Amino acid sequence: MQVINSNVESLKKKVIDAVDSQKEKLIKISHAIHENPEVAFDEHFAHATLTDALKDEGLPVVLNAFGVETAFSVDVGSGDYCVSVICEYDALPGIGHACGHNVIAAAGLGAGIALAPIAEALGVRLRILGTPAEESGGGKVVMARAGAFANVDAAMMVHPADADIAALSFLAIQQMKVTFTGLAAHASVSPHRGKNALDAAVLGYMGVSALRQHILPTERIHGIFVRGGERPNIVPRETEMEWYVRSPSIESLQPLKKRVVSCFNGAATVCDCQVKIDYDHFTAADVKHNMPMVDAYVANAKSLGRSYDLSALPSGGSGSTDMGNISYIVPSIHPMIQIAPNGVALHTTEFAECAASSQADDAVIAGAKLLAMTAIDTWVSSDLRNQLKDNFGSAAPASLVL
Ligand SMILES: [Zn+2]
Ligand SMILES: [Zn+2]
Repeated sequence: MQVINSNVESLKKKVIDAVDSQKEKLIKISHAIHENPEVAFDEHFAHATLTDALKDEGLPVVLNAFGVETAFSVDVGSGDYCVSVICEYDALPGIGHACGHNVIAAAGLGAGIALAPIAEALGVRLRILGTPAEESGGGKVVMARAGAFANVDAAMMVHPADADIAALSFLAIQQMKVTFTGLAAHASVSPHRGKNALDAAVLGYMGVSALRQHILPTERIHGIFVRGGERPNIVPRETEMEWYVRSPSIESLQPLKKRVVSCFNGAATVCDCQVKIDYDHFTAADVKHNMPMVDAYVANAKSLGRSYDLSALPSGGSGSTDMGNISYIVPSIHPMIQIAPNGVALHTTEFAECAASSQADDAVIAGAKLLAMTAIDTWVSSDLRNQLKDNFGSAAPASLVL
């Protein structure tokens, strides 16, 4: 591995200056994406906006990267060591950028633009990735299966929140569709000839309700009825439910999934119906924060006058992200950066408003700088690179996370 002797502080100053010089443009892009919210795999405006900005910098942009129409990638530099900076840009149906992914996109873009000339000069590699469909669809997993993270040594992004949090807890999640099939009959003339798929679904729901008392307080199971039958005078022949099952880690999720499925199997048996479980194409893993890289990020944040809480949120619920899967195949960080007053929750209309506020604009600039500074730390310090590797351990089996 090439040993790089460079003045870290002067490199960091370079990226800080580079981000500052792009300030207006980055904020404009953050606002433009915010004003044009697009949901999973439909992010054509964001894709065009971000890739045009990268092309303007003379960077080699691959459109529709890794088999995903609204993904992109940019590879710069050559050498052994590769850092990937990630941009998310999908919104939520109905409530727009209520997860603030416009901030992630602009911060990642700013970091990428600032780092590109330095990667060339240092003899290392930078991969800027545009990863669509985080809210649903698992864009990063689709891209990872196609090789987006092959030969990547470290991956990083920042996500907006109502506080600066270095390593927030995320839950692993399995989404599933449950279909019960029975037999239609006249509900008054010949109910004895029917097999009631709605009864099966209701019993399945009740089974999960009983199970909830006996799972970890940090686990979550939540479901809805999607189809409950056609008419009251027809014994429901087919019903459909959607369920999310969450647990603190992808390993602990596996037995919980089995217990949930047992509820549906039991309900089908009671009602003499068939049950079919369709799992989503991937299981989102919890986020395995690479702590040496988190520490480097926090040190950089402190140098810019931010104070990061190193702990995860104390208890209670948390969300899930496809970045979790990436964190199991590549050392990764997913720090949260404040764009809203404390207590304003993600996925609310209030948070969507905050995603275009001056606090969010500041977070775009600070986030870009912090990612770029942390990338420099990993590029120039072989000690840090070794720590990253040691902390990561071995990659998870692909069957579990991809
Ligand atoms: Zn998000
Ligand atoms: Zn979200």
